[in-house]
Amino acid sequence: MKSVRIKVYGIVQGVGMRPTVARHASACAVTGYVCNKGPFVEILAQGEEDDVKKFIDKIKYEPPKRSAVLKMDIKEKDPDEKYKTFEIIESSKVEGEIFVSPDIAICDECLSELYDKNDRRYLHPFINCTSCGPRLTILDSLPYDRPRTSMRKFPMCSVCEKEYYDPSSRRYDAQPVCCNDCGPSVYIAGTDIKGEEAIRTARSAVALGKVIAVKGIGGFHLCCDAANDAAVERLRQLKSRPHKPFAVMMKDIDTVRRYCKTDPFKEEILTGHNKPIVLLDKKEGEGVPFLSEKVAPGNPTIGVMLPYAPLHCLIFDYKDDTLVSPVLIMTSGNVSGAPIASTDEEAFSMLSGFCDLILSHDRDINIRTDDSVTDTLDGKLYMIRRSRGYAPLPMMLSKEFKGELVAYGADLKNTFCIAHDNLFYPSSYIGDMEDMRSSEVLKSSVIKMNKLLETDPEYAVCDLHPRYVSSLLAEESGRKIIRVQHHYAHILSCMAENDYTDEVMGIALDGTGFGEDDTIWGGEILRCSLDGFERAGSIAPFDHCGGDLASREGYRIALSMIGSIYKDGSEDVIRVLDLCDLNAFRAISKMIEKKINTVKSTSTGRLFDAVSAILGIRKTSTFEGHAAMELQFAAERNINEPVIPDIEYVRSGSGRKIVATDEIVRFITDERIKGEDPDKLAMTFHLMLAEGAARCALDAAGDIDTFALSGGCFQNKLLLTEVKKRLEKEGKKVLIHSVVPPNDGGVALGQALYGMNKLSKIGG
Ligand code: ZN
Ligand code: ZN
Ligand code: FE
Repeated sequence: MKSVRIKVYGIVQGVGMRPTVARHASACAVTGYVCNKGPFVEILAQGEEDDVKKFIDKIKYEPPKRSAVLKMDIKEKDPDEKYKTFEIIESSKVEGEIFVSPDIAICDECLSELYDKNDRRYLHPFINCTSCGPRLTILDSLPYDRPRTSMRKFPMCSVCEKEYYDPSSRRYDAQPVCCNDCGPSVYIAGTDIKGEEAIRTARSAVALGKVIAVKGIGGFHLCCDAANDAAVERLRQLKSRPHKPFAVMMKDIDTVRRYCKTDPFKEEILTGHNKPIVLLDKKEGEGVPFLSEKVAPGNPTIGVMLPYAPLHCLIFDYKDDTLVSPVLIMTSGNVSGAPIASTDEEAFSMLSGFCDLILSHDRDINIRTDDSVTDTLDGKLYMIRRSRGYAPLPMMLSKEFKGELVAYGADLKNTFCIAHDNLFYPSSYIGDMEDMRSSEVLKSSVIKMNKLLETDPEYAVCDLHPRYVSSLLAEESGRKIIRVQHHYAHILSCMAENDYTDEVMGIALDGTGFGEDDTIWGGEILRCSLDGFERAGSIAPFDHCGGDLASREGYRIALSMIGSIYKDGSEDVIRVLDLCDLNAFRAISKMIEKKINTVKSTSTGRLFDAVSAILGIRKTSTFEGHAAMELQFAAERNINEPVIPDIEYVRSGSGRKIVATDEIVRFITDERIKGEDPDKLAMTFHLMLAEGAARCALDAAGDIDTFALSGGCFQNKLLLTEVKKRLEKEGKKVLIHSVVPPNDGGVALGQALYGMNKLSKIGG
């Protein structure tokens, strides 16, 4: 007989952990007990060795749906007592880490009560229970009790109170519990219209093709009928957002199946309790209902989510005669780059110009949280934006660290990360720092999260970039500063989420980041440990002329590359490719020659933009990654067998290896001039770049056999798969992202890991 004590850490409170454990115990013929200690659940398990092992596996792989098991501490124990049964026992709470739960989408039971005419909460826009409802977004401080949430304004009625204190009720200990009598209420902001009338008014506005703003769980959305071309076009005009895809909310999973291709894993995420936006391939052809092409122009995929707040459900389906489209645009209610609006004031100042009415409510949002966006890869999540439903769930690293810090992240797609010992808490999505409002929110969110986690770090980690707003805020905070290079932080974030802390060869294919040599980096082969990195290689440097303008006008990078590759023959090339007016080319060449507003760059993002322009796919972008995305789509629709030439993919440079991306561009350009199909060449480019990056990293790896792939360009799954395949073919272990984005949204976690390693050393 074997006897073990198990401590389960993570989101284990109020998620039905104890009954689930008891069920597993009886299935495995294990005896003992389970009890709730506050920061963890403690289990004592006795039984035959095989049975105990089976039991542990069951807890690990079949935990309750809404729980998140971060760590299991398993210790063998002398059986001082023999247990005949398995019991759930009540026990005193222990001090220690409490894990703040992310917000949880409406559960099936609440959904059926919502539409049950005989239920107390029939059509109640704020219905919730122990296993669903807002959490992080309504929280002020810990412990998580009603007086410390925005529900404090709404005293429970006697019936709700009874449920709240009754252990057999579905609403036992559910802090946001409320009903039609005692809960918050909805209204049309700036009018006297409220309650049922407000919902009817909003629904009929949507049905009539108007744009409305809706306050949800983590902020406001802008909403209109996605099948109404004119409505979507109007929203694009109002937001001055010509191409960037809008996310949609679909009424239910059957609707999703009608419009999009799904698979069981994608459906599991769509219908799960996090309810992120999931990227799905659009269905084409006969029988697919109409959806405005303007939802995601030129894009074979579409970001889809299911209703996750009861109010969303009521917009689709209500007790009136209005027929609302089963597919609605639900895009973050913000000005491009700014944080999502979370109060009526912000909605009026930011959104009133974009919409016809504002459907709001009086439950305050304490911590704003955008929708998470995820893709999938090989049956796992592949996160694009980690926010609602996931933040602030920590990563728990096995390596022991000591200390506390806050990492301020990057300036684009900013998130921050608070670390405390071996727990790392990446924040919700904040926004782009060039917008003043985002930097204000970064500042206030750091304060709020520190209060929530009861941390007050002495140290701040930030980017090397001297003019990053996030770095300035870190300095202003008065904390001691630790700086980390951007792409090194990308690789560290990938290591952190894989709980891997030994040396790796990092391949960071990214937009732009400040390099240690004052140039722009973004296509880097880095040998990394927790203590530091060595730049073992990079893509071929090119002249980046025109500052930020060149990020929107990728053809400028193409001109610079063509100028340096073809020299005197450049003008012919530009004429044949019809890239631009020759005078413009001459002007740019002059600027590069005189080094006016010109820096050296190894940005892979800009390389993609340039190739997209050379192939005539897209010369200018209206959002970040626009031209690069269309290059990827072109490659993915290619049906011809690509030819991969045998060029010299890696050469020596000064002090590092160079991926011959200039030779790749030359090959692609020559082939295009010969009239080769752009889609085929788009594919060829992906394969050649993957070949070059992988060979360079393999060459530089020495005895390191673990590789880590990070950086925004790895949102491109074609590129990711091709690089990964080549490394695995050589028997290497490849770490990739899953729950943390490969883009700048993940940088803060990497910064935090670097800082914690440093602090632990100072401390020790
Ligand atoms: Zn529920
Ligand atoms: Zn009530
Ligand atoms: Fe980056």
